[in-house]
Amino acid sequence: MERHQITGHTELIGLMAYPIRHSQSPATHNAAYEKLGVDIVNLAFEVDADDLEDAIKGLRALKMRGSNISMPNKTIVHKYLDEVSPAAKLCGAVNTIVNKDGYLIGHNTDGIGYVQSLKDNGIDPTGKKVTIVGSGGAATAVQIQSALDGVAEMSIFARDDKFKDNAIETVRKINENTDCKAVFYPLEDLDRLKAEMADSYLFTNATGVGMKPLEGITYIPDASFFRPDLIVTDVVYSPHETAMLKMARKAGCKTMNGQGMMLFQAIAAIELMLGQRVDSEYMKEKLG
Ligand code: NAD
Repeated sequence: MERHQITGHTELIGLMAYPIRHSQSPATHNAAYEKLGVDIVNLAFEVDADDLEDAIKGLRALKMRGSNISMPNKTIVHKYLDEVSPAAKLCGAVNTIVNKDGYLIGHNTDGIGYVQSLKDNGIDPTGKKVTIVGSGGAATAVQIQSALDGVAEMSIFARDDKFKDNAIETVRKINENTDCKAVFYPLEDLDRLKAEMADSYLFTNATGVGMKPLEGITYIPDASFFRPDLIVTDVVYSPHETAMLKMARKAGCKTMNGQGMMLFQAIAAIELMLGQRVDSEYMKEKLG
């Protein structure tokens, strides 16, 4: 592995999460810094909720350029920041901290990453109806950003579990804060799901269904839910093609997995921290 030449001028950007050692994120960010020619390194730090306040104090004291934030810290780190972006506030989660001369601003680029990955694939849901399944962190970010970016109507489905109230709250926030009209439906009502998908431009799985330990599984009962001109996307990136995407592709639908979302959320975070945008084609090539 080629190493960045670290000197007294080298600056630091972190990733604070627990567990984190398996993450691809530092490699992605370091590849981007190399391409941009900036003298910065990105390091992962095992920081959980108990250590977070001290870690953020450390970020300030060490004058780090910023930090990426992942679980379990996304929903609590706002307490230690000076400002939170409107999207991050609506999502109730921060995944990027930008240090502007000691003033810490929290952003959420997960939803931005999803919307940019749609654009990158020639998909534009502006002014259209979408159906999105999910009530967790990824779903909330995708739903809020899609509404902020001009989706006209959104049908949100979630199963009855500990996350369900998040989805109901997201519907309320979207209706109160954006021009999008959102409605909540229980995922158990599969006839309603089929009906909402039937007149949607785009359908998205924003749950962990399809990824380990739920790999090979989908809540879509059969291919009759997919008409060929429905665009079908998944936030899951491993496996590359979930059981749902495979069914949709075989039914003739254009499909997209979660890899682009992951890449573009990183590109957006780097742009917020450095004010420079790295070439996405280069990053795709670099990361395989
Ligand atoms: P989370 O734990 O916050 O939420 C889990 C969601 O899955 C909830 O909505 C829950 O109701 C739903 N769910 C779980 N089991 C289900 C089942 N059997 N049937 C129906 N719904 C079920 O998780 P998260 O952080 O929102 O992550 C969800 C998925 O999104 C994961 O696979 C994760 O890898 C992926 N993700 C991708 C990106 C990306 O950049 N592509 C970013 C974040 C998360």
